[in-house]
Amino acid sequence: MQEGRTFALWNFEMKNIVLFGPPGAGKGTQSTFLVEKFGFVHLSTGDIFRFNIKNATELGTLAKSYMDQGKLVPDAVTIDMLQAEWSKYPDAVGFLFDGFPRTQAQAEALDAILAEAGQQISAMIGLEVPDEELMARLLERGKTSGRPDDANPEVIAQRVAVYHRETAPVQGYYEAQGKYKGISGVGSISDIAAALEQTLHAL
Ligand code: AMP
Repeated sequence: MQEGRTFALWNFEMKNIVLFGPPGAGKGTQSTFLVEKFGFVHLSTGDIFRFNIKNATELGTLAKSYMDQGKLVPDAVTIDMLQAEWSKYPDAVGFLFDGFPRTQAQAEALDAILAEAGQQISAMIGLEVPDEELMARLLERGKTSGRPDDANPEVIAQRVAVYHRETAPVQGYYEAQGKYKGISGVGSISDIAAALEQTLHAL
């Protein structure tokens, strides 16, 4: 988690972006670029959970029991945590939601949280990557990431299955609002970053 950047690198109105895609799609990597380029506050629920695990909080202990099995942390816990983090940055030029929402209930909660502040999601941008590529990437990442959920092929397969079952339908939620933009998440990091930048500028 980085501190909120409250200055505008962007000369148009506040944007709230959901960066979407399966585990291993490159959301974390591309978030770093988007934060630098556009000054977003980056809210990654996975990062926040890992921060809590590292600091041995009650939330961390609870989250770990799900994460180590490749399952989703329950909606109520995740939504409350996200809302608490989000409310720390009242002057943000925009938010980049990474790894959230992952269920329809989370998407509805996010809409409600933003609506109360007179805001909304501007777009969901999906990084599209085939399953075989994801599995290979996550196994490779597991060699250096230190993440227990990247180290075990069964947990990786479970995360991809959970993505298809519970998270992929969230795309339809934003498609129904005309807010989904998909881009290919296969290729060089810089090419994907360029495609993301172009998509954001076109909003
Ligand atoms: P990530 O870093 O986004 O790959 O997330 C790692 C793990 O954290 C996931 O496999 C889930 O167990 C948990 N997690 C992260 N974000 C969420 C979310 N929005 N809802 C439920 N669980 C989540």
